[in-house]
Amino acid sequence: MLKIYPSKTLKKRSKQMLVNDPSAPPEIGANTRTVPGIITQRGCTYAGCRGVVIGPIHDILHITHGPIGCGYYSWLTRRNLAQQRPDQPINFLQYAMSTDMMESEIIFGGEKKLAAAIREAYEIFKPKAIAVYATCPVGLIGDDIHSVCREAKKELGINVFGFSCEGYKGVSQSAGHHIANNGVFKHMVGLLDEPDPEPFRINVLGEYNIGGDAWAIDTLLKKCGIHVTATLSGDVTYDQICKCHTADLNVVMCHRSINYMAEMMETKYGVPWIKVNFIGAEQSAKSLRKIAAYFQDKQLTDRVEEVIAQEMAELRPVIADVKTRCEGKTAAMFVGGSRAHHYQHLFKDIGMLTVAAGYEFAHRDDYEGRDVLPSIKIDADSRNIEELEVEADPEKFQARKTPEQLAALEAGGFSFKDYEGMMREMRKETLIIDDISHHEIEKLIELYKPDIIGSGIKDKFVIEKFGVPCKQLHSYDYGGPYAAFTGAANFYKEVDRMINTKVWQLVTPSWKKPADPAHTFGRGIDNPANKAIRELIAGQAKVKKPAKAAPAADAPCGE
Ligand code: SF4
Repeated sequence: MLKIYPSKTLKKRSKQMLVNDPSAPPEIGANTRTVPGIITQRGCTYAGCRGVVIGPIHDILHITHGPIGCGYYSWLTRRNLAQQRPDQPINFLQYAMSTDMMESEIIFGGEKKLAAAIREAYEIFKPKAIAVYATCPVGLIGDDIHSVCREAKKELGINVFGFSCEGYKGVSQSAGHHIANNGVFKHMVGLLDEPDPEPFRINVLGEYNIGGDAWAIDTLLKKCGIHVTATLSGDVTYDQICKCHTADLNVVMCHRSINYMAEMMETKYGVPWIKVNFIGAEQSAKSLRKIAAYFQDKQLTDRVEEVIAQEMAELRPVIADVKTRCEGKTAAMFVGGSRAHHYQHLFKDIGMLTVAAGYEFAHRDDYEGRDVLPSIKIDADSRNIEELEVEADPEKFQARKTPEQLAALEAGGFSFKDYEGMMREMRKETLIIDDISHHEIEKLIELYKPDIIGSGIKDKFVIEKFGVPCKQLHSYDYGGPYAAFTGAANFYKEVDRMINTKVWQLVTPSWKKPADPAHTFGRGIDNPANKAIRELIAGQAKVKKPAKAAPAADAPCGE
């Protein structure tokens, strides 16, 4: 897989590619810059901030300050669904707003255009709040979006705030998640102190309601009697975020995109956090039991067991049926900063094995577990991102458990702030690849021949041209939800359908065809298949180097 690379690239990539050992996860190179020229799946920092974390807040207006092209990430590409509330006239997610910076603003500055755009957007929509996102050109010319937002806040009397999430700020979208968490924490969390009246209040963090996942989780929790104050950020309103510090517990789904928020809320407001996973039947049951154990309420625990029994009774026949056709098949997964880990449980439920996996933008702890945090070196790219100084709020901090209650929980095996990482839950000797490239995906298909690959947007069609079905796990293509028990049933059936359809037998992968010099250009100029290119280059060389004729003695100067 690495052979094709020049030595410097080979050295770098070999640190990001290793063979797993769950008992002592080896150190992986992660959260480092992609080698230029390699076709990566990653998105930019702006995409991580605007597209992933803040985008799903649907009653505030999102304005991208920059050229219109950056706005691609702001218009429904993530399929994070949202429903209008009775007091909300429009679902703003259906709009993409951009200042559409042109050459004159790039040269003379775009602050005036931004101020005018905020005013115009307010006039038309009268939103509760407006968020502004800076793209690369804005950072390069030095527009001060924060002062424009402060002025607009004074003038309009609503909350207006900005995110310095220029695409170049970090090595991937991961930096954008951190910037988004900081902004949400500074400008929204803590503004409303009235808690919801329901008991057992939790926030679901790192869940983006792709294809309706948050709704499936919400419905399941409601059945158990657990109330969701806010989902950050899936089908969530401004007010829900403003009061999310009043919840009793934070449960974290995608650790990578939101661990900063969980940590800051615990320090400032005393809300503890636990890791959960509602992807897969076993994992959903485990997560419900963990939440019930936290609240230490007999009625709640009994209700949770009842719901698990009901849901499993409905799901078992589906699993048994799908297993007859899927058991023993293999999967590979290269997606996101948690999905490549979480979705392995769904495959496992139907008897499938994940033979290779990796993340697009994860850090070492997502692979190796949280205990490696102290050994992760802070490099120049990470220093780019502001670390907020957070302290306990003198008035609003409230410890949710007494030291005795905490000790009793921990003595019973309960773990707070814990995250084992993907490698500990994967089989020995499976292949782990960070930030996989298109070339590596192609080689992986050739060598491992997985029956299905879970991947991102950019790789999907490359994979399918090789005759391998690809489940796009960023926006689920047009499917979903896949979370909770009901979502798991959808996933099992869909994987069964994808793997067992005969259509893939009609595709002959290029690596199975005999080399055809007319159509094969790959793998080095010395490849016998590239004879035609060698001849072409040799011909051009001849044209470029004509024999020099001696100048005529009487030619005029410059001729
Ligand atoms: S990298 Fe910069 S210019 Fe490109 S989309 Fe992201 S913000 Fe826009």
